[in-house]
Amino acid sequence: MFAAVFEDNYRTKGLRRNLVKQIENKGIRDARVLDAINNVPRHYFFDQALLEHAYQDKAFPIGEGQTISQPYTVAFQSELLEVEPGNKILEIGTGSGYQACILLEMGAKVITIEYQKKLYEQTRKVLPKMGYHATFLQGDGSQGVPRHAPFDRIIVTAGAPVVPKPLIEQLKVGGILVIPVGDNERQKMVKVKKIEENKIAKKEYDLFSFVPLKGKHGWGN
Ligand code: SAM
Repeated sequence: MFAAVFEDNYRTKGLRRNLVKQIENKGIRDARVLDAINNVPRHYFFDQALLEHAYQDKAFPIGEGQTISQPYTVAFQSELLEVEPGNKILEIGTGSGYQACILLEMGAKVITIEYQKKLYEQTRKVLPKMGYHATFLQGDGSQGVPRHAPFDRIIVTAGAPVVPKPLIEQLKVGGILVIPVGDNERQKMVKVKKIEENKIAKKEYDLFSFVPLKGKHGWGN
């Protein structure tokens, strides 16, 4: 995972513009999301030899049995999140850090937590070298991160069996949580808006296929 040198040239920029078009054709409309996809060099997250894979609209293995999400999925979740500049966002499932970079490009402050120590160590070291600065944490994000709460937005990038209660509790009133919920194979994308302290509105979207959310409010260890 991760390129040896971070170099963005006319070829990679061209490949990225094509990727943005593909995602737009699949229904993503939020210009700020499309701009962010256009601005983050996805090939930085791939070994040099795998450059071609970086700009296909596909998920890709990043080691430790985990994946960098499909660009369309990243765009879909980012659009549902209705990111506003300055939002404090909790991302659960740092993985490669690509989704975190998209949120940073959109002007958010990002706190991201990863369960797997090795991925956490790799990503927290490399992202600043790309110019992306988030707060990196390691642990079970299914419980949220109470010491940093409340959040304007929470995004979960692993498939959960249910919407974890602590995540709703740690959302500000007016805040939005986007989380895939289902079984181990397929999950419906769910958007939860916290209307009042004890009132939420929930909407379900398309099916996706994420790696399982581990931990206390996920599928366990
Ligand atoms: N957002 C990532 C990216 O942009 O590359 C993709 C994430 S990958 C699909 C899901 C990640 O969630 C994996 O790295 C996995 O280790 C992590 N994960 C699973 N359960 C978790 C938990 N309870 N807390 C934090 N991270 C978790």
